[in-house]
Amino acid sequence: MKIHSIRAEILTIGAELLKGSTLNTNAQYLGRKLTALGFFVHRQTACPDTCDAIADGLRQALIRARLVILTGGLGPTPDDLTRQSVAEYFGVPLVFSKSQYLRIKRIYAERGRRVPSSVRIEAMFPQNSVPLINRFGVALGFYIPHGEALVVVLPGVPDELVRMFESGVGGMIQKFFPDLEPGYRFQVNMAGISEPEVMRRLGKDFFDDPCEFGIYPYPGEVAVHIGARKRSTFLRLKRKTRARLTDVIYGWGTAGLSEVVGDLLLRKKRTLAVAESCTGGFLAAELTKVPGCSRYFEGSLTAYQNRLKTSLLGVSPRVLADKGAVSAEVARAMADGVRKLMGSDYGVGVTGIAGPGGGSVRKPVGTVFIAVTSPRKCTVHRAYFRGDRRQIQTRSVKKTLEMLWRVLR
Ligand code: ATP
Ligand code: MG
Repeated sequence: MKIHSIRAEILTIGAELLKGSTLNTNAQYLGRKLTALGFFVHRQTACPDTCDAIADGLRQALIRARLVILTGGLGPTPDDLTRQSVAEYFGVPLVFSKSQYLRIKRIYAERGRRVPSSVRIEAMFPQNSVPLINRFGVALGFYIPHGEALVVVLPGVPDELVRMFESGVGGMIQKFFPDLEPGYRFQVNMAGISEPEVMRRLGKDFFDDPCEFGIYPYPGEVAVHIGARKRSTFLRLKRKTRARLTDVIYGWGTAGLSEVVGDLLLRKKRTLAVAESCTGGFLAAELTKVPGCSRYFEGSLTAYQNRLKTSLLGVSPRVLADKGAVSAEVARAMADGVRKLMGSDYGVGVTGIAGPGGGSVRKPVGTVFIAVTSPRKCTVHRAYFRGDRRQIQTRSVKKTLEMLWRVLR
């Protein structure tokens, strides 16, 4: 079931998107924005920079959708063909805008540069279009009302596109579709549970209420997106979700585990330090992605060699020899050691075998010990992760963050 009635399509233009040399971030950005506005985005198409492909893409999109947004190919170079293709599709000429040309000239003059003759094309617009002005006052795009539909053409440069959308294009689109109904939606994020288990716990009766439902797995996590047309349905679904999954839900919305952990540390006025072996610094990298983490994150130590585990973290050589570097005892000693070394409230120790070599029958590749300690308590977890070296490291980081969340909440 889809809660939205008005369909939107995104047509991104550029051979680099198809060849895989450029990640299509414009499609992702517009998909998110249009969904939030209340559109049902039901196609994203990437096409090469040829007049045929662009016109055909636009024709197909207009059969299905009332809003079509095109991005890319608006510049002055010969491979930029979007404005010509759109004009041809509507059977109108490109018209020169003197005021736009003067604006462009002024910007070049302000930067002390000569105006190349090729720039003239940037002041040309399909006859039936309305220029869309960017922050410099230069039109980098345009829109064309077409009966009940709207065609919006935006630049390919992601920064420009985002700024234009935020500063006016989004609002213009909303005005054009006064019948848009955003509906009600929420996202719930869970850790330490599998997709089938989420579905089992939600139960069949969960879907008695009409809703838009999506479930998405990530390493060590599952996210569920739910949308409803009516507020009462939305509230009931949210209540049911909370009741059935409460022990695994770490957040609602877009904040990830490292942000949630950071938030808990801040609220409890506690600090954290980490000692890493097999994750090689990835845990610290994940924790420090969060702006403002200096308020609770003391630091990290990547102690790969046993010599450093002993000399810097105070892990006993005896324990290392008896239990091995990959053991619950060493993980715990690393966590305690880094907590003392850095003077933090909480300490983490991660040690494991990321592979591909180094495994044994008792401790195969993917065996990871994670310890979280505080002055009062210590939790150690033995995990076995499948995958290649990088996947084992990623899952170790996720599991550690999940453990921290469980200890702190
Ligand atoms: P310009 O005036 O700079 O030529 P333009 O509107 O013609 O702008 P393009 O030439 O298509 O845009 O692309 C400009 C830059 O933006 C290129 O580096 C291109 O790879 C990038 N880009 C284009 N489309 C996308 C997209 N969908 N997602 C991410 N990057 C994109
Ligand atoms: Mg270009």
